[in-house]
Amino acid sequence: MTDQGKLREGVRRVAVNAGDAGSLAAVACGHVESGDDSAQQPAPPPGRFWHGKSLAQMSAAEWESLCDGCGRCCLVKLEDDDTGEVYTTDVACRLLDCETCRCSDYDNRFDKVADCLKIDLDAVENLSWLPPTCAYRLIDEGKDLYWWHHLVSGSRETVHLAGISVRGRVLSEDDVEIEDLPERIVDWPTQ
Ligand code: SF4
Ligand code: SF4
Repeated sequence: MTDQGKLREGVRRVAVNAGDAGSLAAVACGHVESGDDSAQQPAPPPGRFWHGKSLAQMSAAEWESLCDGCGRCCLVKLEDDDTGEVYTTDVACRLLDCETCRCSDYDNRFDKVADCLKIDLDAVENLSWLPPTCAYRLIDEGKDLYWWHHLVSGSRETVHLAGISVRGRVLSEDDVEIEDLPERIVDWPTQ
């Protein structure tokens, strides 16, 4: 179990002491496109293109279509200064629409959230906190996509129905005091 007292002392100081959400976003990251239904999404590439193909071999369209829209990577994370361990909270980046589970301004996300990180090949290979259910991580580890992934199920609703997405389970960082973040640490986004 997490030692909350130790963590509170060890939480990354730049995030806790700066007192602004911009610093909090330093440990938030995301890749969920705007739009809340399949009608607003570009048609996915045909076939199970991820079979027998590495992430590095994928086209831009194939790469984009892999994101399942779970929103887990858009949750605020805290890092223990002493151990470097990263903890995930159930508090979402302010641009995440917590009901639709989509970035509300995907095209301008890097302008509005300075530390929103692009999920590229380097990120997939180096971000230890990327959720185990993340499609990029699964493919990178040589695994297949789950049944609920929209490229398998044919529906962008199944990631929500399967309980994978953060939809309806999180608060916006605008609604949480920065000193309360250690109390918001949860395990489910990393399982
Ligand atoms: S700006 Fe958008 S994509 Fe980036 S972390 Fe926030 S909600 Fe996610
Ligand atoms: S965790 Fe992976 S699949 Fe889920 S929203 Fe982020 S980039 Fe997309």
